Amino acid sequence: MCRHAAWLGPSRPLSSLIGEPEHGLLRQAYAPRLQRYGTVNADGFGVGWYDAARAEPVRYRRSVPIWADANLPGIADVARSGCLLAAVRSATIGMPIEESATAPFSDGRWLLSHNGRVDRVAVAGNGVAVAGNGMDPESPCDSAWLASAVFARLRAGMPVADAVAQVVTETARADPAARLNLLVCGGSEIVATAWGDTLFTHVHEGVLLASEPLDGRPGWRAVDDRTLVLASPDGVSVTRI
Ligand code: GLN
Repeated sequence: MCRHAAWLGPSRPLSSLIGEPEHGLLRQAYAPRLQRYGTVNADGFGVGWYDAARAEPVRYRRSVPIWADANLPGIADVARSGCLLAAVRSATIGMPIEESATAPFSDGRWLLSHNGRVDRVAVAGNGVAVAGNGMDPESPCDSAWLASAVFARLRAGMPVADAVAQVVTETARADPAARLNLLVCGGSEIVATAWGDTLFTHVHEGVLLASEPLDGRPGWRAVDDRTLVLASPDGVSVTRI
């Protein structure tokens, strides 16, 4: 369904995920090549990045197609960071199309995007993943529920890879049909999961993580399903969930 991408490495502009590469998210919004569910991602987009002037990341989300925002190219050229996230959305049937339902979701220094779907009734019944965490999801959108479950664990001090793995496994237990490709950025690390949809990595001067390759360069590697990728300044590790 949705497509998302992130960068960890030397500072780069957001346009390096969106309009610059041949198959960046601008193109993936209307012509994704590997998308398994849905054909276009026209229900909104969001970007997030880190700036020394601010303790928390900056977000820019819209509920219009990414190609319809005439102001984005200028913003994306000057918004630079060593940790970037961008997502284009194909809303799951029944989910609201509005900014608050659009990734990235955020809490403190964390940014989160979800590519997939979860049965909200199953999730609501999954006391471990969502209920009792003291955080209200920003939106009734399934992705916002997942974000609040991850954020609650991060607030409790759980390492990000553990928090993401736990939410994915507990949610999948409650809803075995769930698709749970998550992308979580913390400014100096990124965690991504492949659970039901495609995920690729490209390591060159830094780490790119994307639902599908952003360009035709060699070096893009498909991540196995049901795995978690942790990218940090120390490198990239892939583990089975
Ligand atoms: N279920 C989420 C939404 O409605 C994500 C959709 C997707 O991956 N296309 O926004």
